[in-house]
Amino acid sequence: MNTTFDAGIGQAAEHPAIDTTLRIQAQDLMRSHAPGESGSCQHPSCKGVAYPCVARRVAGELSDASSGPWPRQWTARLDAQSCGIPVVAVRS
Ligand SMILES: [Zn+2]
Repeated sequence: MNTTFDAGIGQAAEHPAIDTTLRIQAQDLMRSHAPGESGSCQHPSCKGVAYPCVARRVAGELSDASSGPWPRQWTARLDAQSCGIPVVAVRS
């Protein structure tokens, strides 16, 4: 039995890679969907919607998922897209 190989798999499962594309998009959404003076979201697409709006809540999920295991990263993308928030595959 190769214990070094087994340790490597365990470490990968405990410390998943950070998806920087998800994290950057989450940060962009958080910046653009911030509360205004009235307490509602100040983004033009959310005018009058109470904060946190759907996009801000999706941004939180994307941020959390960005450091989670790959299935969570994948489903967070799909959840965002189902809310009308496209997630880019690769950031250039
Ligand atoms: Zn908003």
